[in-house]
Amino acid sequence: MAECDRKPLRSGALPTGMETVAVTDRRAVGPDAVALSLAAPAGFDASPGQFVKLTLDVGDEQLSRFYTVSSPRVEESLEVTVEIDPEGDLGPRLARLEVGEEIGLDGPFGTAAYEGEPRTLVLAGGPGVGPAVAIAERTLEDGGRAAVVYRDSAPIHTDRLAALRERGATVLVLDGDAPLADAVADAIAGFEGSPQVFVYGFAPFLDDATAALSAAGGDADGAKVESFGPAPGT
Ligand SMILES: Cc1cc2nc3c(=O)[nH]c(=O)nc-3n(C[C@H](O)[C@H](O)[C@H](O)COP(=O)(O)OP(=O)(O)OC[C@H]3O[C@@H](n4cnc5c(N)ncnc54)[C@H](O)[C@@H]3O)c2cc1C
Repeated sequence: MAECDRKPLRSGALPTGMETVAVTDRRAVGPDAVALSLAAPAGFDASPGQFVKLTLDVGDEQLSRFYTVSSPRVEESLEVTVEIDPEGDLGPRLARLEVGEEIGLDGPFGTAAYEGEPRTLVLAGGPGVGPAVAIAERTLEDGGRAAVVYRDSAPIHTDRLAALRERGATVLVLDGDAPLADAVADAIAGFEGSPQVFVYGFAPFLDDATAALSAAGGDADGAKVESFGPAPGT
């Protein structure tokens, strides 16, 4: 849990810069995970890999958390993917949102995002698969080559991962604590020329992924990395 997003906000008043947007779709994307589509405010745009701050009343306080854009582009709506920690304060509430309910949205934030690179390799842990599928889909749409290495004890977005594979992307899905090094090396070897590497997930995954990237001779310094914070429950 990030320190900045635990601060309770005074209920009733939205913080400056925040827009109120409606939920336009909510669908289960695996065990304990939902993809939420939110109406994009006028003029709002974001690249996959950037993140937004969502704010909601929970009990008598407003809680905010960050979620990364998981749609390949923003048109009328943007999508975020929430892996629900049953012990969490906001995730379970987000998972119960109904279409038409309103929520506070601020952003986008972050620079570890897709910028039209022709070769993309995304290393994703847990909910990092949201930006991973979005970046891979966008890369293929733009005529590039994409690869995803995804580690999770209960994989989600399996339909989008299968569709990516069918469209020619390299998709390697690993169990919970499986070592990453071989998969990262295989994914890099599948490219002609160096890919832009992206890394998304909680802190322990980032450590493993950057070590695997260095071991595979990848460009760890040039990787675009976004931490989702400490491991849940720590
Ligand atoms: C840049 C960024 C991008 C992110 N993108 C995504 C994304 O795309 N998808 C996604 O699912 N998540 C994402 N996250 C994580 C997300 O913001 C939340 O941290 C996550 O959903 C958990 O929120 P929560 O309110 O449900 O849980 P929290 O209430 O924050 O709790 C998280 C864990 O901490 C434990 N905990 C709570 N309070 C305490 C305490 N006082 N002492 C000890 N342990 C405690 C809980 O038991 C739980 O296990 C991102 C985070 C960042 C920083």
